[in-house]
Amino acid sequence: MLVPNTTIIGGLPFKMTNEDIHLAAKEWSFESHLETLSMSIRSEYGNDRALTYYFTMVADWLLDIQGWTEKQRDEFKYNLGSALYFFVRYNRLEWIDDPCQSVPVEFNVNGVYYHMNFDCKEYMTANDCLGECRYTLLEIAIKPGLPWALRNWVVIHELTHAILFEANYTGDHNDESLVKPLGTLIYRFLKDNPELWRTTQNQHGDVDKTAPDDVKPCQATTFDIDQLADRIMDKIADKLATQAERGLNNAGL
Ligand SMILES: [Zn+2]
Repeated sequence: MLVPNTTIIGGLPFKMTNEDIHLAAKEWSFESHLETLSMSIRSEYGNDRALTYYFTMVADWLLDIQGWTEKQRDEFKYNLGSALYFFVRYNRLEWIDDPCQSVPVEFNVNGVYYHMNFDCKEYMTANDCLGECRYTLLEIAIKPGLPWALRNWVVIHELTHAILFEANYTGDHNDESLVKPLGTLIYRFLKDNPELWRTTQNQHGDVDKTAPDDVKPCQATTFDIDQLADRIMDKIADKLATQAERGLNNAGL
């Protein structure tokens, strides 16, 4: 996995720029700016070190888009960034983009293996849920037979619960007002930046194992999850544009 030159976050293209002199003067390792849609990391770092900073910036933007304050982000962006890095690096993810792929039988979430189950237990039936993250059992349960795009969105949603939990998020990892938009943003981040995970497939074991009870995909979907995600992203883009405008005004531009 290489630090990409351009990263789509919340629908916006962030470009990697070289700001070595500026960063060195401030004694910073990395920096990102909404005003210029840019990220920069000191070039003295090797790729793997740079990736840890890169994912910290990605996490920072994912939280910023949702209105977290700088102080709140600073408290959690390192944990979330590191959990995202681990997730992208050590899991097979082509199923997000390919309707003919089943999801893996297990996911490595910050070093903890969550097994996929396609069953509906009492909780899911009683609450009419499409998925459930069972933290104590280390299971992600998904309602069987969902159209593949909806299945993908639900899988990432439940994994977002797991990522928050395993990243020691001290707030409420079950707070849907956080997990729904964050899960959607992570889903779009993964779909919009496939070069990140396309190069990781042979770096870990058991990549070919797929959940045996998963639906056989390759079927038409009547639920357009991308359209739903687009609507959410449009709202977020509006918010970002307002923020950017404010930033430009502040910068006297
Ligand atoms: Zn949820």
